[in-house]
Amino acid sequence: MSGSDARPVLVTGAGGFIGSHLVRRLRTDGFRVVGLDAYRGTTTEPIAAVRLAEMRDDPGFDLIEMDLVAGTLDHLVKRVRPAAIFHLAARPGARDSDPEALARDNVRATAAVVTAAVAADVGDLVFASSSSVYGAGRTRGPSRETDDVSPLSPYAVTKRTGEMLCLNAALRSRVVRLFTVYGPGQRSDMAFHRFITASLEQTSAPRYQPSDAARDFTYVADAVEGVLLAWRYGRRPIYNVSGGEVVTLAVAVRIIEELTGSALSTHLAPAPPQPMVTRADLTLARSHLGYRVRFGLRDGLAVQVAAASAECLPRGTFAVERVRAGGRSSDH
Ligand code: NAD
Repeated sequence: MSGSDARPVLVTGAGGFIGSHLVRRLRTDGFRVVGLDAYRGTTTEPIAAVRLAEMRDDPGFDLIEMDLVAGTLDHLVKRVRPAAIFHLAARPGARDSDPEALARDNVRATAAVVTAAVAADVGDLVFASSSSVYGAGRTRGPSRETDDVSPLSPYAVTKRTGEMLCLNAALRSRVVRLFTVYGPGQRSDMAFHRFITASLEQTSAPRYQPSDAARDFTYVADAVEGVLLAWRYGRRPIYNVSGGEVVTLAVAVRIIEELTGSALSTHLAPAPPQPMVTRADLTLARSHLGYRVRFGLRDGLAVQVAAASAECLPRGTFAVERVRAGGRSSDH
């Protein structure tokens, strides 16, 4: 499995936060990539066109606008004959309380990917799952891939269902459970994006958990590395991938304040229950995949803050708004 393989790889959710980073990394590694996205995420619309804008003229990359549920995925997969499918398209977000929409984009869409992959004899399927499937299962120790899962939110239930659809198909499926991913291009509903924006614009950001809630945050390049390693070297069905550093929201806020040079005000907002702590056991990822965390939280946040600051216009308007105002609707 190298970039010189003749067959391309297919990335669903290519216009999303993590998907766009994965696409760029696969191209850097020499793979031909077909990306697919419906641009129907709740938060990705204006950003999506910006995320892959620089790749529009790349001859090794095709971006197809298609809804996995409503489209003709079977035909596409048969025509493309990808060596692997990286299935990242989803309706993400543990605070999402629309079970029907979640079932559509996370369960039916995954069923469509699995069906198309089996029909076209695609060997490999890598599914981006979530630490949320663990629920509040292990509050003290790290979550292991073999632990019982107890999803708390409708989102987590649909991600677990997606896992099972992938793992029970006649495919070489790998599930990667990602722990809270951050970095440039992060979804605008996610905490660090909101916090950095509020700090730069001197507004107050909603916080959906108490300040002592803690997460095993993962820099996006490490998440992408974990996904690729699971594809290449995975010999178990499921791998955790995280930053290996559990940090409270309070500490993250302090780091952001230091990096932006301005105080950050947050206010607690109502939200459905979420685990107070997430912590990955990385034993399998390290020993089977050779996974090593490359970005600590401060370094990763420094990159995200620098990217956000560069996008910030004098009046506090962001570049995506400028693109939107310039009528980029024909971009993709
Ligand atoms: P994102 O919303 O930025 O990207 C998802 C993309 O999927 C969007 O561009 C959206 O348009 C597309 N999509 C949704 N439904 C579709 C459909 N029916 N057909 C075609 N495209 C569709 O989300 P993200 O943060 O990049 O997350 C990517 C994946 O990683 C998701 O599967 C998510 O559940 C998983 N994950 C993310 C995190 C995180 O912290 N960001 C953590 C754990 C797991």
